[in-house]
Formats: sequence, C-alpha cells, structure tokens
Amino acid sequence: MERLWNSPAGETPPVQTRIFRALGTLNTIRAYGGALAGALERAEKRVLELDDALSVFKPESDIARLNAAAGQRSVRVGKDALQLLAAAKRFSRLTDGAFSVTTRPLSALWSLHAGRGTVPDKVPIERALELADDEGIVLNEADKTAMLARRGQAADLGGLAKGYAADEVRRILTDGGVTDAMINLGGTVCVVGHGRSVGIQHPDRCTGIPLGKLTLQNRAIVTSGDYERYYEVDDVRYHHILDPRTGYPAQSGLRSVSVIGEDATALDALSTAIFVLGAKKGALLAAACGVELVLVTQEMNVYCSDALRGIFSLLCAPGGRVSRQV
Ligand code: ADP
Ligand code: MG
Repeated sequence: MERLWNSPAGETPPVQTRIFRALGTLNTIRAYGGALAGALERAEKRVLELDDALSVFKPESDIARLNAAAGQRSVRVGKDALQLLAAAKRFSRLTDGAFSVTTRPLSALWSLHAGRGTVPDKVPIERALELADDEGIVLNEADKTAMLARRGQAADLGGLAKGYAADEVRRILTDGGVTDAMINLGGTVCVVGHGRSVGIQHPDRCTGIPLGKLTLQNRAIVTSGDYERYYEVDDVRYHHILDPRTGYPAQSGLRSVSVIGEDATALDALSTAIFVLGAKKGALLAAACGVELVLVTQEMNVYCSDALRGIFSLLCAPGGRVSRQV
C-alpha cells in the first residue's frame, strides 16, 4: 500500500477530485486524506463502463441491444445489465408496478413531445402504456441472456443506474483504502466515512440552493423530483417520472422525495417509486424497506421520518411547515 500523503498534525489532508460526465449527468467523486493511487481513476472508469453497458442511447449497449431484439430473440448481456434487470423486476413487484423500467416506449413518446412543446394524444399513450410490464423481462442467469417478451417493448434503467453506479464507486474507493469520501452522481449522493452535511434541493430555486440539510455518515441519499427535467404546456408541468398506471407524469401530490439508507441502488428505485405512489403509500414502503424519508408536497409542506429528527433541518422557509408525521 502506498500512502500518498503523511498528514502533519493540524494540517488539512489533501483532497482528490474527479468531475466527469456520464449517465446523462455530471458526476463528482471526492476523496479526502490518504487515498491510494488510482482509486478515483478506477472508480471513474467503472462509471464510464456502466454507461457503455446500460445507456439506452448507445446502440452497442446491452440495453439498446435488448430493446432492438424485443419480441424476437434473447441477447447476451454483461453481469451489470443482468443484475440490474433482475433488481428492476424485484422493485417492480415490490412497488405494485409503480417502478417499471419498461416505461421506455412511454418516456420516448413524452420526450418527442417535450421537444415540440406538445402533449401526446391518449391513443399513443395507451399503446405505449400497454407495453409497460416488467414481467416481460425474461432473464436466463445461467446463459447470461435477457429478452423482452413482446415486440415494441423497451427498457430504460435511468431510474436505477445512478444508484448502482454510486454503490460501485463506493466499493472501489473503499477497496482502494479510501475512508473519507463524497460521491455525487447527478444528485445521487453517497457519504463514505465522516459525518458530512448534504443539502436537499429546493424544488423552486436554482440548482444548488438547498431547502434543507442533513448530516450523513456512511449513508446514501437519493432524490427524485418534478423540477429536474420537465416542460410546461398551458401552465401544466410535464416531468420525467411517469406513472405506469396512467401513462402520464406522476401526479401524487409530491414535489420531491429523498430517501436515505445504505444501498444506493435500492434508494434510487425507491425514490422514483415513492414519487409515483405519493406520501401515504410511499411512507409505508419506505418503512417496510428500512429507509428514511424526506418529502416535499405540492403545498410545500415538508415531512421527514422520525429517525431524521435532529438530523434534518430546514434552511429556508419553504412556505409550508415541517412535520414528522406523514
Ligand atoms: P433522475 O434519474 O432524474 O435522478 P429518477 O431516479 O427518479 O430521476 O429516474 C427517472 C428516470 O427513470 C426517467 O428519466 C426514466 O428514464 C425512468 N423512469 C421514469 N418513470 C419511471 C418509473 N415509473 N419507473 C422506473 N423508471 C422510470
Ligand atoms: Mg430513481
């Protein structure tokens, strides 16, 4: 083991940072203190590798090949795609279909209309909705193959991939001897070691302006909100988290959902699912999964789970109130 820095008493140890684009977002990996040579580079390489394997937009990716062969044949996929598709099926069942990665035909339809500033008609929405069914993902772990059962079906792991990538980065850093680090993959945040303050984005303020903050130690936090990607038609907001029961952007009365726990992959799926399910069902799901929760409602009321009392604090009055009861 090569130690890069011997910190003299009282001196702040060096910080190593990698900032790069991948997974459709900006990513920052920051390690404090005596990181071993190469750990951050290996972590960044791994995220780029995951982007290559999982991106729906890269024609050679496992997911793009899976989608292109839908209803026709199975394709060989790597262990990451296989593992994440299996996780997607589990979370789809766990959430009664609120989390569904086969919403890709729907999200493609909505993206097309977002570009034009229009709202899709009911008929194409229903056609795309009909294809959203994660039970149609057929996996063969032994052969390392995957298939989508019906023609036209398509998967998009966008609701899960950043969490998985964050778990991988944490593993690589920890294996590399890093004991103090902050990982931020487009808002999916993982704190390694030390207690560090993490902000929760204000839904109506510029990016980087927090609504509240909490101190996390060896934990991850993932937020899903209606303010990240959206467009408006006639004062109606159409955002990127779709309700697989209606085919429209989820309207569950929430502006944002933050979930806090250990496994960032699970948190990523749960934040998306809870955003779809709303406060009441979402709180039950979070409790059943052993994760903590901060919710911001349409009325700008803020709720947090009991265990976050004293850990979460509001930074600017959002217009509503903070309550521990959901
Ligand atoms: P972000 O990736 O913007 O941080 P999320 O983790 O909530 O936000 O994931 C949203 C992405 O997941 C969408 O861009 C889309 O690709 C996909 N998605 C949208 N609705 C669902 C859903 N109900 N279940 C699973 N994935 C979804
Ligand atoms: Mg998610």
